[in-house]
Amino acid sequence: MTALSPNVPTRNLIGGAWIGAASGKTFPVLNPATDQPLCEVPDMAEADGLAAVEAAYTAGQQWADTAPRVRGEVLRKTYELMIERREEIALLITQEMGKALADSRAEVNYAAEFFRWFSEEAVRIGGEVRRAPAGDKWIMTNRVPVGVCYFITPWNFPAAMATRKIGPAVAAGCTVVVKPAAETPLTTLYIAKLMEEAGLPAGVVNVITTHSASAVSSAILADERVQKLSFTGSTFVGKKLLHQTAERVLRVSMELGGNDPFIVCSDADVDAAVEGAMLAKMRNGGQACTAANRFYVHTDVYDEFVAKFSARMSGLSVGPGYEDGIQVGPVVSHKQRDEIAGLVDSALASGAKRIVGDPAAMPSVGSFYPPTVLTDVPADSVIARTEIFGPVAPVIRVQTDDEALTLANTTEFGLIGYIYTRDLAKGLRLSRRMQTGMVGLNRGLLSDPAAPFGGVKESGLGREGGFEGIDEFLETQYVATDW
Ligand code: NAD
Repeated sequence: MTALSPNVPTRNLIGGAWIGAASGKTFPVLNPATDQPLCEVPDMAEADGLAAVEAAYTAGQQWADTAPRVRGEVLRKTYELMIERREEIALLITQEMGKALADSRAEVNYAAEFFRWFSEEAVRIGGEVRRAPAGDKWIMTNRVPVGVCYFITPWNFPAAMATRKIGPAVAAGCTVVVKPAAETPLTTLYIAKLMEEAGLPAGVVNVITTHSASAVSSAILADERVQKLSFTGSTFVGKKLLHQTAERVLRVSMELGGNDPFIVCSDADVDAAVEGAMLAKMRNGGQACTAANRFYVHTDVYDEFVAKFSARMSGLSVGPGYEDGIQVGPVVSHKQRDEIAGLVDSALASGAKRIVGDPAAMPSVGSFYPPTVLTDVPADSVIARTEIFGPVAPVIRVQTDDEALTLANTTEFGLIGYIYTRDLAKGLRLSRRMQTGMVGLNRGLLSDPAAPFGGVKESGLGREGGFEGIDEFLETQYVATDW
């Protein structure tokens, strides 16, 4: 399971051609379970990035003029190909990113659904004609594609973070350049190959891989043919890009970091809360922006929740994600593992207790970190203020539901909040006061291509998926006519 399928493209797609960097330079893609290289991919420089922009720009007008039905059908066909090749794509995700195969299969389904959803949205792009208040004129509005888009995606969902942007953009009539994370470029290349197979014209989707994300992205964003940036990644990098894009008044969508609270109220169904906690914490081995980062548990149910949750966490099997029966793979890199370990050490130093998780029991090869439960975590500790991005659950005891909500909102982030209570009216009241773009009310998993995904505060700008997702790629144009 450590060798790549020969179907995986390892060159870049620019203007319909599969090519390498002009310099001939490459960099390795590593398997985080073995630390061994899977293959080499092109290390594109600024000029290569601009060639991709040129290809997208050249294809732009024709794609914008292509019938929405035709655009939708390419997406629909790619959706079908992704489902047909689910096993191959899932294995590829596990090989380059590490997550367990079950998580990768779920990601392929989720990622493909964005293409199905936006194939349906492509034919529903509206416009409006209304009468002006003065009564003697009419106001007509068109929805037009924004033009060439640049996408930067992270390593944690290499398929879904790409399709969640490519789907609506292609449906809207935009052409795109995608730069996947250097850790996980292969899945995006594979999806681009399927789009080609589904009949996507040359230049509509271009994929470049690089180790020089900052330099290549700066060159692309400075190019006046580019009209939009959609970024998913850390708030730190997102802020840098916001400064850069302000120079050109670019349209931006930002899906950034989270510090997602998980509240267990005094009246919660504890078994349901534990089930939800496992999903919210352990999907993707905890490497999700949606991952529950801090558990605020009411003192009335604290002991029961901790006992049941710890039993589940300590029962998880850790190992290479593609091996049978493995539930938690390695984290994506040694750097990521060391950051998680540092956060846990600082929590222990501030008085937390580790009741599940022994890093010394992990394999010596690969970047493994064990599922970990920390109790007695001080509410103001570094771990409670930082996105962990790993399989670590800090549990904090609270005396009231209001205290939980206040602590939940004490953060610059605002992506998701989880609430468990048997009292639906209370749950809805707390949801309204939760300062997040999304709330999981008695649900530990809420991502759905048909729902608007996104954050408030420093977790982002704009929404992906849902009816809102395609709006990010359309401009409203007002045409005044003398009828
Ligand atoms: P990251 O910000 O380090 O990298 C994300 C992408 O940006 C990568 O492709 C990387 O190569 C690129 N990049 C890095 N520096 C850059 C620069 N100076 N200029 C241009 N591009 C640059 O994030 P990551 O570690 O890959 O991903 C984890 C982060 O992503 C977490 O904070 C997580 O919460 C966030 N995330 C958010 C969502 C969401 O929908 N809100 C979804 C997934 C991940």
